[in-house]
Amino acid sequence: MTKRIFAPAEIESLIESLPEGMEVSWIPAHDPLPGGGADAVISLLTRKIGGAEMDSVRGLRVVANVATGFDNIDLQAAADRGVVVTSTPDVLTESTADLTLALILAVMRRLPEGISLVQRGQWEGWHPTQLLGRSLTGATLGVLGGGRIGLAVARRARGFGMNIVYTARSSKSEFDELGASFMGLNDLLAVSDCVTIHTPLNASTANLISTEQFAAMKPGAFLINTARGGIVDEKALLTALDQGRLAGAGLDVFDGEPAINPAVLAHPKIVSLPHIGSATVETRRSMAELAFMNVVAVLDGQPPITPVVVDGRVAPS
Ligand code: NAP
Repeated sequence: MTKRIFAPAEIESLIESLPEGMEVSWIPAHDPLPGGGADAVISLLTRKIGGAEMDSVRGLRVVANVATGFDNIDLQAAADRGVVVTSTPDVLTESTADLTLALILAVMRRLPEGISLVQRGQWEGWHPTQLLGRSLTGATLGVLGGGRIGLAVARRARGFGMNIVYTARSSKSEFDELGASFMGLNDLLAVSDCVTIHTPLNASTANLISTEQFAAMKPGAFLINTARGGIVDEKALLTALDQGRLAGAGLDVFDGEPAINPAVLAHPKIVSLPHIGSATVETRRSMAELAFMNVVAVLDGQPPITPVVVDGRVAPS
């Protein structure tokens, strides 16, 4: 029997061939889900899917998010309804790590200021003290969240000669080859020249980096966030920058995005990107394909390829 799928119109061009036996309705991500039934919903992280949305789709069996994060989906509501939830980890790890390194370089080497100086026609030639940044070599990178992306960032940063410290809920043997030290968050904040965030957004990480944590950071340090905006208290970030406590920040994600606090957007010490961590042709294709593969597996009665995993366990359904 033909299976019905609601999929975001925004990923249609990324899909080369559709699985057989599927009737796909391509729905713009900001449009409400249509009435009527579907076996599966493929969702972007911009679509909030709670119990009401699940109930509106008669016969729903699987929600496949086109993202590693799944904070847009109510897992309890899915479990209550026996709906399987999947995400797209791994395929975006390397591209998100690349983007994170780009932000580290952008803030530590003051790239946007240099670009702006040249574009404004105000560069008057090489000057020994112009736009001095900070060397990555010998600096300490604090990785908050030693999972897939945190490790990939740490590997790259090691290649730039950075010393690595990291924190997570438990230590990871994969960090050993990098000579990385595992420590608690407060110790990490105290020793890091640059802190980079790679935890999921959940109840334990919402506003994890706030006034107290900024006060614990090494003076003149940098903060990078390519995880989720809600992990950083943006008001506290602005204060830390204005007080000179922090030297700069690089953000790919924002609380309440795509709206961005105007003070964050205008701040000269913040480099802002529009959530493009995984935005390469190859990665976005892989994410879209993996979402479809998850749907096919579940609708064929097989285990999902990449189910959502919380605390090391597949989220119940
Ligand atoms: P992951 O492999 O699950 O790693 C998450 C890490 O966070 C784990 O090491 C985990 O520690 C740690 N962690 C969880 N709660 C913590 C807490 N309260 N304190 C300290 N550490 C904690 O996830 P990933 O694949 O690296 O992805 C990380 C996040 O990046 C995703 O959740 C997503 O939101 C974001 N992301 C953003 C983009 C983008 O476009 N900007 C792209 C991809 C992903 P344990 O292992 O010890 O539990």
